[in-house]
Amino acid sequence: MRVLAFLDGSLADPEAAHLRVDDLGLLRGDGVFETILVAVKKPREMRPHLDRLARSAAMLDLPAPDLDGFARAAQAVVDAWQGGPEIALKLVYTRGVDGDPEGKPTAFAMGLEVDEKVLRARTEGVSVVTLERGFGPELAERAPWLLLGAKTVSYAMNMAALREAARRGAQDVIFTATDDSVLEGPTSTVVLAKERTLYTPPSTVGILPGTTQYALFRGAEKAGWSVKVEPLSVDDLLHGDGVFLTSSVRKVTRVHTLNGTELPDSSALHEELVAAYESEY
Ligand code: PLP
Repeated sequence: MRVLAFLDGSLADPEAAHLRVDDLGLLRGDGVFETILVAVKKPREMRPHLDRLARSAAMLDLPAPDLDGFARAAQAVVDAWQGGPEIALKLVYTRGVDGDPEGKPTAFAMGLEVDEKVLRARTEGVSVVTLERGFGPELAERAPWLLLGAKTVSYAMNMAALREAARRGAQDVIFTATDDSVLEGPTSTVVLAKERTLYTPPSTVGILPGTTQYALFRGAEKAGWSVKVEPLSVDDLLHGDGVFLTSSVRKVTRVHTLNGTELPDSSALHEELVAAYESEY
């Protein structure tokens, strides 16, 4: 099942062609996007996703996106959806057609089914390898043109990293900086649980501020956890009580194995954190 809508709220055939071949989103990966989880017709963390879309667009010097239009398109997708109970809802915003004198961006919302593999990982957990990302934690602030921390449509590297994980017999990746500190997954935020405190690295190290991690921390604080945003090392991950990857579609997924080392069983913690996250819905 797929549903496509434009910013005026109109629906269109998702299997027909709508983009021009000279769209800069296609030619150069010059655009931004969001993926939002819709559960039982209700989008989760809609405002933080819209705010992050605007923030990413600003980092690329794109015109400010029409957030009301995106909210309208999102609602049109939700209203027309006749698939499963959850929707992976994508908001896409590119620089538009190469050489267009008006510089009109391309913008649409599209609803997709949640991938089977992601659903399985939510319950079974994942095996993860660390892969180098090749920059230091201070680079993002020094070199904003690298767009570290913007959610651009250039995800080819992120997907390549996941294929590398598969070659190494794992299902997911945690990127590390040149000082070996923890960054993020190719499509997720890293969360460590240790002694009733949740940790995640700060977005200033050149990673995306995660909407799911933020909602989880909010819920966990209400449930009595402490939360800390601070740099983490791979060694920290190996010596905690549990490591989790969070993202809108995977929610809170448990890491059971890191670089071939089995981590302590965090199934009970996982249940607790999922409950804390769901309490924020
Ligand atoms: N980091 C990256 C690179 C991502 O692509 C994503 C989501 O796809 C996340 C983190 C998690 O963000 P969120 O929880 O807002 O989905």
